[in-house]
Amino acid sequence: MAAKAAGNQTVPLAVLLKRELTSEKIDKPDVLHGQASQSKKGEDFTLLKLDCQRIPGDGVTTFSVFALFDGHNGSAAAIYAKENLLNNILCAIPSDLSRDEWLAALPRALVAGFVKTDKDFQTRARTSGTTVTFVIIDGWVVTVASVGDSRCILESAEGSVYYLSADHRLEANEEEVERITASGGEVGRLNVVGGAEIGPLRCWPGGLCLSRSIGDMDVGEFIVPVPHVKQVKLSNAGGRLIISSDGVWDALTCEEALNCSRGLPADVAANQIVKEAVQVKGLRDDTTCIVVDILPPEKVTPTDPSQKRQGMGVFKNMFRRRSCESTSHSDRGYSQPDVVEEIFEEGSAMLAKRLDAEYPIRNMFKLFICAVCQVEMKPNEGISVHAGLSQHGKLRPWDGPFLCQSCQGKKEAMEGKRPSRDSSSRRSTGSE
Ligand SMILES: [Zn+2]
Repeated sequence: MAAKAAGNQTVPLAVLLKRELTSEKIDKPDVLHGQASQSKKGEDFTLLKLDCQRIPGDGVTTFSVFALFDGHNGSAAAIYAKENLLNNILCAIPSDLSRDEWLAALPRALVAGFVKTDKDFQTRARTSGTTVTFVIIDGWVVTVASVGDSRCILESAEGSVYYLSADHRLEANEEEVERITASGGEVGRLNVVGGAEIGPLRCWPGGLCLSRSIGDMDVGEFIVPVPHVKQVKLSNAGGRLIISSDGVWDALTCEEALNCSRGLPADVAANQIVKEAVQVKGLRDDTTCIVVDILPPEKVTPTDPSQKRQGMGVFKNMFRRRSCESTSHSDRGYSQPDVVEEIFEEGSAMLAKRLDAEYPIRNMFKLFICAVCQVEMKPNEGISVHAGLSQHGKLRPWDGPFLCQSCQGKKEAMEGKRPSRDSSSRRSTGSE
């Protein structure tokens, strides 16, 4: 972007990188974390990686990854995602990007990585599925991709609270119920003897309570792995992230989780939140919590609780509820002090929308590489992600990005255009 802004006078990439590295060094927050877990079924898994590198080997362009996988019907999908998802995301980002471009490319790379991971897992023909809450912290920029009902919240240093993940629980998400019904799925409660309907809304076949996940190949393919993605920039006063599985959120509200742990170091805070959740509801589910403090350099303890507007429940709704169809691109740039700036948010399940090249950086998709699985294609082999879509009357099947045959098949299945493998097990089983 910087190169573009300079007009015809191109600044060499090496110079740009050096400038970025210098300013980054000064401006980089300290990232401290802790995690705690109490296990009931052994299906919660976490991935914590502190020193990932944007430019391999330079030791300076580091970013951190914090991810939570809450498996169901077994742990195979959660383990598979833990082992492969990060790599699949990073493989979808071109290697020659500046930091700003890298951050701008992340939302689409997250979509490609999630879909590829789900598709690859399907070929292993194992049952089970997993929620994913995937957090990437680069400087003051936090990017969160989520499927399922684990949750990531942010409390900024001045005490405002933001939801950074979506809730893909059918019970709580009418838009997703509509999408699944339109794709040929059936949404309803469990039928027991006598015809009474009990329990939460589930999707049939399969009986899953979630509308999005990785895995779940025995459930309809309209249970998609396309993540909700939100990217924000914290002020350099920092903030605290709490990433937890539903074992915590079924017992505690966001305010309760924040209040019971405010002022404590991250590791103690994570323990406290899990302890509190188990105290309220008993150990009924795997209960996992990751706390991440993003702090001004050398400020080793989180803000003194007495300085905060504690307990006021200052839920900022700058992220007003949008429809899943909306995209937002706000101008990155001058952030006011103590304000969390929203950079990007998109939750649509449609790949054509999520992989579109609209996002204001140069097109990151290469002509003969599949935008999802990154496989190399022969000329004329790729299928435009817009194929079959006639939005606003302009069908542009020659426009990229392009998908390989196999990923195009996956796309059609997710949109309900391919009959599901199995529609026999209707309401015979239920899963949580
Ligand atoms: Zn592909």
